[in-house]
Amino acid sequence: MRPTTPADNAPVQEARILLADDDPRLLESLRGLLNLYHYQVETALGGAEAIRLLQESTFDLLLLDLRMPEVSGHDVLRHMRDNAIATMTIVVSGETALDDITQALRNGAYDYLKKPYVPEELLATVSNAVRKKRLEDANQVMQARLNRSERLHRFIVNHSPDIIYVLDEQGRFSFLNSKVEALLKYHREELVGRHITTIVEDDDVEKASYFFEQATKPHRAPRSIELALKVRDGGRSKHYFELSIWPVAEEDENASPGGTAQRYRIYGTARDITERMEAEAFINFQAYHDLLTRLPNRSLFKDRLAMALTQASRNDKSLAVMFIDLDRFKIINDSLGHTMGDRLLQAVGQRLLECIRKGDTLSRFGGDEFTLLLPDVPSEEGATQVADKILEAIKEPFDINGHVIHVGASIGIAMYPEGGDTLDALIKNADIAMYRVKAGGKDGFQVFRSDMNTIATQRLVLEQDMRRAVDTAQFQVCYQPQIDAETETICGVEALIRWDHPTLGRLGPDEFIPIAEDSRLIVELDKLTLIRACREVRYYHNNGLPNVQLAVNLSPLLVERQNFVEMVLAALAAEDFPPHLLELEITEGLLMSDRSDIVDKLRQLSEAGVQIAIDDFGTGYSSLSYLQKFPISTLKIDKSFTHNIKARDNEACIVDAIVSMAQGLKLKIVAEGVESLAQLHYLKALGCQVVQGYLFGQVTTLPRIAEQFGTTGRVPDPAATTDA
Ligand code: C2E
Ligand code: CA
Ligand code: CA
Repeated sequence: MRPTTPADNAPVQEARILLADDDPRLLESLRGLLNLYHYQVETALGGAEAIRLLQESTFDLLLLDLRMPEVSGHDVLRHMRDNAIATMTIVVSGETALDDITQALRNGAYDYLKKPYVPEELLATVSNAVRKKRLEDANQVMQARLNRSERLHRFIVNHSPDIIYVLDEQGRFSFLNSKVEALLKYHREELVGRHITTIVEDDDVEKASYFFEQATKPHRAPRSIELALKVRDGGRSKHYFELSIWPVAEEDENASPGGTAQRYRIYGTARDITERMEAEAFINFQAYHDLLTRLPNRSLFKDRLAMALTQASRNDKSLAVMFIDLDRFKIINDSLGHTMGDRLLQAVGQRLLECIRKGDTLSRFGGDEFTLLLPDVPSEEGATQVADKILEAIKEPFDINGHVIHVGASIGIAMYPEGGDTLDALIKNADIAMYRVKAGGKDGFQVFRSDMNTIATQRLVLEQDMRRAVDTAQFQVCYQPQIDAETETICGVEALIRWDHPTLGRLGPDEFIPIAEDSRLIVELDKLTLIRACREVRYYHNNGLPNVQLAVNLSPLLVERQNFVEMVLAALAAEDFPPHLLELEITEGLLMSDRSDIVDKLRQLSEAGVQIAIDDFGTGYSSLSYLQKFPISTLKIDKSFTHNIKARDNEACIVDAIVSMAQGLKLKIVAEGVESLAQLHYLKALGCQVVQGYLFGQVTTLPRIAEQFGTTGRVPDPAATTDA
């Protein structure tokens, strides 16, 4: 059915019509008629002019007389055909000869009219033809547009970064874009007709089947899914895709008559998300693992422990938590460098893994601390056996980059439920038990007992208090005089720190220095002590104690600090303190590590005039080889040797040996802990230059010492000294 219009012979707006005839009168009358109906009309007198006009411009319609002299209508039609002029043509013929018309129609004419014209017939035919022409034109434009859009879509589909596919209702491919070849290395043809699960990795097939089965169900099913797809690249690693789908219901043309059956097609895309998945997996791994050893980290350990605890309490079973801390790791790390330290930690982790079973969790808790969870251990014995095994394994020397390294471990064990019934309690108590091992000489294990707790809590409280008090007046620098044995005058003072704790009263260094070292607060504390002592002693240089030397105890942790030398020199400069009047007391242990950077630091200070003393000499490693390497100026004989002088036994011999050796090395000797005149005389006879001890005075404040020793610097009557 044609679209209805008001009248079939109604003119079509602005149609251009060419009239070709050899009769000028006829042309004019036709023009008049068509003009009346608002057609634009041009006339050609004869075939030759018609051809010329057709070449010059385009017309919607040509009314062509067949019988014309010279160039006939047939000639015009032939010319149009040969020159691809597509103007719609209605031929007009005077004769009734059917042949003529048939030939014209065969040559491309659209319709024909007979002369003489019947105006209605003419107008209807013209109007028809023009309308048809217009429809054809519109159709052509549409077709061109469609072609363009089709090309565009095809381009988009084939250049999409995603795989684009169409599935039939059974889930079989009916279309795939070319991306499938690039991404999955399948040919499109081999997949068409195959089920989508053909390209899904075996592990995901079930999940995929379910998803696509649900896809066409009416309820709201998920519209995307993450699947591992098969890639024909030798199966190097898994490739993950996000498949999105868009089911579309279509009328089924082949449906049985009567039934309006619907058929589904599933349009879908598959996007490669392997990189994103790998990044996510890595982030996940990172969140729960220590990247150095690749062991579970603290978070994962806690997760596992929480799970194991639930199980153990439900089944009335026990479990064990171990805290494993490496002995001597710090020294190794500092002396051989962090790279070696890292390697060692990796090797230790590996060796620990060999000691445990499948269900156990070994984690790196931080630094050189490892924790171990034995979720299924029948008794304490079971746990201690594992601890024994670990200690044995760790004892075997490690070969790291050609360095043979010996380490040990201290292990604390907390058993559930006796050693704690919560996650935090178990970890804390295992830690406490481990500290017990450390305090007791390291390299061993301890099972947590409840009485260990109080000691540990005290430590913790003290550490917290200390953190708050470090730079306050709670810490006081006290001094003990050092006496020149020859002249018996004061020649120096040793600064000794005291803590006036708000609730515990005055605490001596032995009660808090170990805690300060563990928490590294000692670095701050020693720095402040050094500065304060310099300031105070400097003041008394001008107020009764001229040229008195100041000895300051330093923790190895401070000396190891990178800016240690600068810090000391800055303190001296700030307090205008003469470097040669400062003596830094360090312990033998620091020198044992044999580190060139420590040698350098001490040498720099020594070159600046600062004196270096070895404290508690004889109690440590008693190896003398390092004395030559380091710029040492003074040896301090430990008070334990001094105290035994009276007994005249081996100890005295040791003192003899130390003194004679020190004399050989031209070192100054300070004897500590001198409490009796007998000791003083003995030491003096040996040639010991400086003595220090309760015989000459308690540890007290500088004003007191100034008062006691006065401007003369003479030793007062021992009986007159007051207690600190
Ligand atoms: P030290 O350097 O060996 O200090 C000597 C210790 O022996 C002092 O104990 C002192 O009070 C005590 N003493 C002095 N004369 C006698 C005596 O005749 N007989 C006996 N039996 N003891 C005597 P103190 O003050 O408790 O210091 C203990 C340790 O704490 C010091 O041993 C030192 O290693 C450390 N220390 C003290 N102050 C500081 C400091 O500011 N920084 C650092 N890092 N360590 C410090
Ligand atoms: Ca000392
Ligand atoms: Ca000492």
